[in-house]
Amino acid sequence: MPDTATDPQTVTLTLPDGSERTHPKGTTGLDATRDIGAGLARDALAVKVDGEVRDLQRPIEKDADFAVLTWEDAEGKMVFWHSSAHLMAEALEDLYGDVRFGVGPPIEDGFYYDVDFSESSRDAPSDDDDLAEIEDKMQELAARDVPYERRPVSKDEAMKYFREKGDPYKQELIEELDDGAITFYRQGGFTDLCRGPHLPSTGPITYPKLLSTAGAYWRGDEDRAQLTRIYGVSFPKKKLLDEHLEMLEEARKRDHRKIGRELELFTFSETVGAGLPMWLPKGTILRETLEDFLQQEQIERGYEPVVTPHIGRLDLYRTSGHYPYYQNSQFPPILEKNRTGRTAADAANTPPEADGHASDEDAGNAGGSDAGEDDEQGYLLKPMNCPHHVMIYKNKLHSYRDLPVRLAEFGTVYRHEQSGELGGLTRVRGFTQDDAHVFCTPAQVKAEFKDVIDLTLKVLDALDFDAFQAQLSLRDPANAEKYVGGAEKWNAAEDAIREAAAEMGLVAQEEVGEAAFYGPKLDFMVQDALGREWQLGTVQLDYNLPERFELEYVGSGDDRHRPVMIHRAPFGSLERFIGVLIEHCGGDFPLWLAPEQVRVLPVGGDFHGYARDVQAALRDHDLRAKVDDSDATVGYKIREAETQKVPLMLVVGEREQEAGTVAVRRHGEGQQDTVPLADFAERVADEVEEQMSG
Ligand SMILES: [Zn+2]
Ligand SMILES: [Zn+2]
Repeated sequence: MPDTATDPQTVTLTLPDGSERTHPKGTTGLDATRDIGAGLARDALAVKVDGEVRDLQRPIEKDADFAVLTWEDAEGKMVFWHSSAHLMAEALEDLYGDVRFGVGPPIEDGFYYDVDFSESSRDAPSDDDDLAEIEDKMQELAARDVPYERRPVSKDEAMKYFREKGDPYKQELIEELDDGAITFYRQGGFTDLCRGPHLPSTGPITYPKLLSTAGAYWRGDEDRAQLTRIYGVSFPKKKLLDEHLEMLEEARKRDHRKIGRELELFTFSETVGAGLPMWLPKGTILRETLEDFLQQEQIERGYEPVVTPHIGRLDLYRTSGHYPYYQNSQFPPILEKNRTGRTAADAANTPPEADGHASDEDAGNAGGSDAGEDDEQGYLLKPMNCPHHVMIYKNKLHSYRDLPVRLAEFGTVYRHEQSGELGGLTRVRGFTQDDAHVFCTPAQVKAEFKDVIDLTLKVLDALDFDAFQAQLSLRDPANAEKYVGGAEKWNAAEDAIREAAAEMGLVAQEEVGEAAFYGPKLDFMVQDALGREWQLGTVQLDYNLPERFELEYVGSGDDRHRPVMIHRAPFGSLERFIGVLIEHCGGDFPLWLAPEQVRVLPVGGDFHGYARDVQAALRDHDLRAKVDDSDATVGYKIREAETQKVPLMLVVGEREQEAGTVAVRRHGEGQQDTVPLADFAERVADEVEEQMSG
């Protein structure tokens, strides 16, 4: 083998298994893939060269790590779907003539393109027939199997092309790009501004399916043009498409908004406000049962519950840095009554109010901001619970013996999400986090992370989620100056978190450069029954807030130290988590969590008395039971209870009343057996207990 380090005519590619292959310099990804295997070359969608996803046809000019991406890789699918977005755009130009394009990226489960149809001779596509017509056109274009051709262009040339084409959106995008870093991709008669990468040709996109359309503001800005976003997905095989459509159908049935309505769990009202869920009685039982369960677990683990108000002074958030920096995602401040309507200049002449905590809050006023906002006095609906918990920590001087201090609150916070982004419980404007803040020494970080992982796994187990993973977000050592805290601290913390995850058997994918500037973090993801992945909550280390608020603890001498802070909300928010849970179980909650666990169904009015006795006996065992004392037939009552997904139904009539028994039906399973009431109550109470202890 030639010494590649000194041979300018060859490149050495290192495969994921560590083996090396040498090729002539300028070999394409496809050739290098063929060299590994003909089958792999047939399946290849793109390659990864030193971590960068690239077209198969691009030449490789230097030694690199090399991997082949197929449909089995998420990044491979992304290339397939991105290429499909281009194909859809071409089909739209063919069918609709004069259309302009915004952005058309691949997304987690397909792709979309934002399109301006205002100059088209036809109306924007809206119904299934329109979408089917576009799909047919895409299939027709794909069948030509023409290549996606990459071409670097100068900024001038790129501008000229889209000026002549009359596409203002692409021109705006090009303006923001650096000359020398711009590429076009062309397939057939369609050219797009694009970084790529793409498939070698259109041929594999044999099964496109367009799913829906929606309005989308250009660049997400409500003041700018509204485009039509067309969502689609595509597959190389019919079987894959069919499976996907089946999954979507099942997902529709399980949509938490639909189930929330049917089971009367929560509701929204435009009169109250978009994105502000209201919990109905049954949903409240569900939510509080979950909350109690979490609270109990946390108390056993040494967390101390606290309660804090829903607003806080602007100065508090100036110190924490949440104001004015994150104003776009916050509701506007509530200004002091006597200052409302006054100008910033007026406010600047007013001395700050006397306040016992003023010195604390002013301490880290490193925020720095525009002059007017700096002097405004008022309150903010709390976007985060952290600053309040920090002030609780500061309420007294802590010794190293007190640490870790773990302050927990189901804290409700408010964020001003764009109205276009609101949907059911997974994106809301007011939500309650399963929040806690741990104040500890650096040496305690690992044990705290282990405990949060343990808690999370236990809760997921109690809710029948058995597939989950985590993402560990690390700093980018090449950008060390970006991060607060110093390299030594970071390395130790990252090691601690990595070890914590490994020791708890958690699969954690590491992402370099994804950490916030103030500390590394661990995010939890679960996979639901349909195989969809949901991001839940996070455990975040923080070197910043302890600094800004000058937190301290007293060491074994009289020395002062700065604690580390850990923000943790492993389930994120109760709203989102319950939304995910509903879709995971399709509304069939585990028995311990079901808002109504048992429904007693008397076969006639003569047995209402016995039915109430049964209910009372169940309540004595802390079970949630109701009696259906309507005049309906027992058959109707059963159907009703089944629709409401009540896990257990007890039919009682003369025989049961005389023998002190109940006839048991389980949801979806029909008649089971007839057992003595006392046995049943005990058995079910045990079952609940068992489910909760995992
Ligand atoms: Zn593209
Ligand atoms: Zn926090």
